[in-house]
Amino acid sequence: MGAEIRHFCGLFGVYGDWNAPAMVHAGLQALQHRGQESAGIASADSKTVLCERGQGLVTQALSRGQVEGLRNPAAIGHVRYGTSGGSDPRNVQPLLVHCRTGSVAVAHNGDLVNKRELRREAEAAGATFHTSTDTETILALLAREPSADFSANLQRTLLRLEGAFSLLFLRPGEIHAVRDRHGFRPLSLGRKDGTWFVSSETCAFTLFGAEHVRDLEPGEHVTITDTGLVSKRWCEPAPSAQCIFEHVYFARPDSKVFGENVHLVRTRLGRQLAREFPVDADIVVPVPESGLSAAQGYSRESGIPLDKGFVKNHYVGRTFISPDAEQRNTAVLLKLAPVPEVVGGQRVVVVDDSIVRGTTSLGRIRSLREAGAREIHFRISCPPVMWPCFYGIDFPTRTELIAASRSVEEIAKYLGVDSLGYLSYEGLVSCVNGGAERFCTACFNGRYPTPLPRGALPTHCP
Ligand code: SF4
Repeated sequence: MGAEIRHFCGLFGVYGDWNAPAMVHAGLQALQHRGQESAGIASADSKTVLCERGQGLVTQALSRGQVEGLRNPAAIGHVRYGTSGGSDPRNVQPLLVHCRTGSVAVAHNGDLVNKRELRREAEAAGATFHTSTDTETILALLAREPSADFSANLQRTLLRLEGAFSLLFLRPGEIHAVRDRHGFRPLSLGRKDGTWFVSSETCAFTLFGAEHVRDLEPGEHVTITDTGLVSKRWCEPAPSAQCIFEHVYFARPDSKVFGENVHLVRTRLGRQLAREFPVDADIVVPVPESGLSAAQGYSRESGIPLDKGFVKNHYVGRTFISPDAEQRNTAVLLKLAPVPEVVGGQRVVVVDDSIVRGTTSLGRIRSLREAGAREIHFRISCPPVMWPCFYGIDFPTRTELIAASRSVEEIAKYLGVDSLGYLSYEGLVSCVNGGAERFCTACFNGRYPTPLPRGALPTHCP
């Protein structure tokens, strides 16, 4: 499915090493799965903040010379897929502004549900905007705060924000890291000797041999300076709404997210899926890479051997194939090719993490049939995605979500599979640490943990 959900954003920060910008450049590459559209790094010493940004993958967006020119003991970085604000180059982060309290760069993962109201209010008060991101709205609110105390201004600004935001701010001599009151997106603290790290995912700490100290709490504001780390709450405690899709699909399997290793959670999802939807078959085939852990779980639980029925091409960029039906299939095959010698004549269980529009799955199932699979039993390691996300994930609108308008039987028929099984909601939440009450599961059940933007949903929401 991976191709159907464009990812969102990743954040990485380093404090206390003169190689901080180069370390952020490497850390962002470890977070590349969270955003491939653009990348940027801001760095600071005790007086100034510098920033370099560009489009494409981290290695394309930032040259060696640019990174070397940022040499400073503190740096933050951002990889982005434009969930809010589109792909305009002006929207690339970190954003850097100069305001009453001095220069500040900001990097944001998430999406504000009240961004329109806040932007209108800032515009009415005379603010002008150079980007179409909600991140610039946060800076505009911050710049209007009257105090000379940055932390006090930040606290007042954060209280105005509703929705999902993990944020890094860089000022001369300090990094501020913030998580929203519900904790939608992950943000973790790492440390090695005197150097602090902040990352969307712990997989980036491993590069530097840094220890994962802990996750930031929902509603926490951490300030890192030469004198160490200070933690404050910026809001009253609120119900936890960590994005369960981080476990299902978004995060890297070697990361520890919301207190648990992602691969182990996905393996449990696969085991549960095998218990809920057993089938007599010859091989279990993962859809790489995101379906791999769940397929391993399905294989172990069912006793059906795992095999490499698909091969992923890691080097595919944009294609220029015109979009008629047959040629679209060429694009699918270029990314993921079936292995006829493995699947030919076999009864195949295909395990994937989710189905969104259904078009990508359709191409993959068709290619398996053409490679000679005798039976195809499609197993999905989460429930049907029926509702859009307003918290930083670029799910399509409700009308484009295949499960919003078709039953499981109709989807099976559309895909041309012999059977289709989605993991139940109860099965999903039984596999994650802390159960349903700690997680946002709105894309499965429409129960949104915050008010939504006005007119966001055309139909009644439960
Ligand atoms: S709606 Fe779905 S993708 Fe969005 S935050 Fe909630 S669980 Fe995650």
